[in-house]
Amino acid sequence: MKEKNTNWTNEDSLHTYQIKRWGENYFGINAEGELSIYPNQKLDGMEISIQKVIEEAQNQGVSFPAVFRFHDILRSQVKHLNESFIQIINEAGFKGKYFGVFPIKVNQLREVVEEIIDVGQEYNYGLEAGSKPELLAALAYNTNAKSLTVLNGNKDEDYIRLAMLGCKMGKKIAIVIEKFSEIHHVLKLAQLFKVEPIIGVRAKLSTKSSGKWAESSGDFAKFGLTIPEIVDLVSLLKEKNKLHLLSLFHFHVGSQIPDIRIIKECITEGARIYTNLIKMGVQIEYFDVGGGVGVNYDGTRSNTCSSINYTLKDYIGDVVYILKDICDLEGIKHPHIVTETGRAVCAHHSCVITNVYGDVGLDNNKSLRWNTHEDDHLILKHIKQLHTDLNQSNYQDTYNNACIIKDETISAFKLGVIDLEQRSSAELIYWDICSRIISLTENEKYVPEEIKKLKTVMAEKYLCNFSLFQSAPDTWAIEQLLPIVPINRLNTKPTKECTLADITCDSDGKINNFLSPEGHKSTLTIHELPKNEKYFIGLFLTGAYQDIMGDMHNLFGRLNEVHIYSDENDPSNFYIEEIIHGNSAADVLEIMQYNPAEMSRKIKVEIDKKIKTGEIKPRTGVSLVDYYEACLYSYTYLN
Ligand SMILES: *Cc1c(COP(=O)(O)O)cnc(C)c1O
Repeated sequence: MKEKNTNWTNEDSLHTYQIKRWGENYFGINAEGELSIYPNQKLDGMEISIQKVIEEAQNQGVSFPAVFRFHDILRSQVKHLNESFIQIINEAGFKGKYFGVFPIKVNQLREVVEEIIDVGQEYNYGLEAGSKPELLAALAYNTNAKSLTVLNGNKDEDYIRLAMLGCKMGKKIAIVIEKFSEIHHVLKLAQLFKVEPIIGVRAKLSTKSSGKWAESSGDFAKFGLTIPEIVDLVSLLKEKNKLHLLSLFHFHVGSQIPDIRIIKECITEGARIYTNLIKMGVQIEYFDVGGGVGVNYDGTRSNTCSSINYTLKDYIGDVVYILKDICDLEGIKHPHIVTETGRAVCAHHSCVITNVYGDVGLDNNKSLRWNTHEDDHLILKHIKQLHTDLNQSNYQDTYNNACIIKDETISAFKLGVIDLEQRSSAELIYWDICSRIISLTENEKYVPEEIKKLKTVMAEKYLCNFSLFQSAPDTWAIEQLLPIVPINRLNTKPTKECTLADITCDSDGKINNFLSPEGHKSTLTIHELPKNEKYFIGLFLTGAYQDIMGDMHNLFGRLNEVHIYSDENDPSNFYIEEIIHGNSAADVLEIMQYNPAEMSRKIKVEIDKKIKTGEIKPRTGVSLVDYYEACLYSYTYLN
């Protein structure tokens, strides 16, 4: 430790964890050095300390890890999207209106969907569904007759019948044709039900997104009609006298679009298709630009995969102005604008709070000492010499030689030339050389690549009570970077560099990519673990996709959820509105076809046998069965 622990301020932590850059002013640090939520996006305004929410949740019996859902942020994001559209549409003198829809797949939780519908009511903000179950939810929960329900995805006959049911109920249903053959079913069933749904068409744009979802556009994308197919669709509808139904034009080129230039190109290409369709006599009313607005996960504001080089307002400005300019140029009326923005609406509102329950690292072995003797094997003498001679000018050479000797040690051991204790000494000396090299290179400007790797390998691991596969699947699947920040002590200097490991038995259950002021980095700057206190960290921006895509790897189930609302009249500025309990072991076992009652019975039968033979006392037997049952019905995570 070179610097003292004094004069470390909140500002230093804000910088270390880049909070202002990814936090959209919803996140900051309060006077006590606790990470806090600022529901009004004013860092001098009302604050909710996450530490205080943890304490209250614990008092109410919530075990960790847990999802914290800040409903104020969700509401604020929906408002922000709608009000920005209204403002920019007015400024531009654009004649159409904005009719946004929320794509349910981004977060299907009922509480989330209900909240969005509730706050979106005054803006006629609707829902988008991409599957039959989502459609069932959309039909039940979008009760606003003025807002749209946009239907995408693969559609079988039941899906289309359900859509017709929605039309019968007087809902504004838009069925988007994504495969040419769908039009036949839609026309047939519309006639059968005697309804006239809005028919939409999804175009495959030639403009390609970059980033992880580039394959969602282009001629060979999974969804959408090519230009010849669209022209064909228009002729078909004309023939059948149904052209008036085709009134929505849609495209979606992929999620998390990193670069604003791609968005500009999409809007331009889309707007040209729109004006041409109008000229062909198609009465398009809605111009649906899909989703794709990204989130600045790593705070770099660059066009890398975990970031974006634009703001929501920049995006909206481009949609409105580019569309307006092209329409005006071609003398075509302005359509209504629809977006299916999901990620940018929900990512910020929830986070995963987990406790660090231990650490593993070579540092823990410091107490182990090696012994050397006169009659040591040559291998040991060599590595000991390397250890003695190591200095600033020869560390790279020393490292190479140490690696060679380590390999030789193992060969010698396999051949029976050295014994277990000698191998142990050689390995300890090797790791000591490595950690000394890391100290020697700490302040070097240039550090060779292999030494950098050594740093990551040797970094201590903090063991965190959560499953990456349940709570942050994208960090594993697509190397998505998420901000990770300690919950308190942010006014003291974090002195450790660690990687994180989860509690699954999977070696992939680790995080070794973090944001930092210098860009991505393989370790997280974090505090020394306190001795007698729990140490909590948060994984942030998990509200879109991460929340609901998780799986049950190792049978770790869904997390406890804490739903939080702000309240100005409360001394801590918040109240917990609802706690949703996560899965018990019995819940997840049942999903895998086990029967928990049968499992208890089987344990009881076996223990009864042991009681009969006298191997177990009856009293002990009963308590063993009770304990088994208690574990069966408790939380899947570490206690
Ligand atoms: C996934 C999806 C969206 C949501 O995209 P975001 O990038 O989360 O805004 C919108 N529309 C369609 C058709 C989608 O498949």
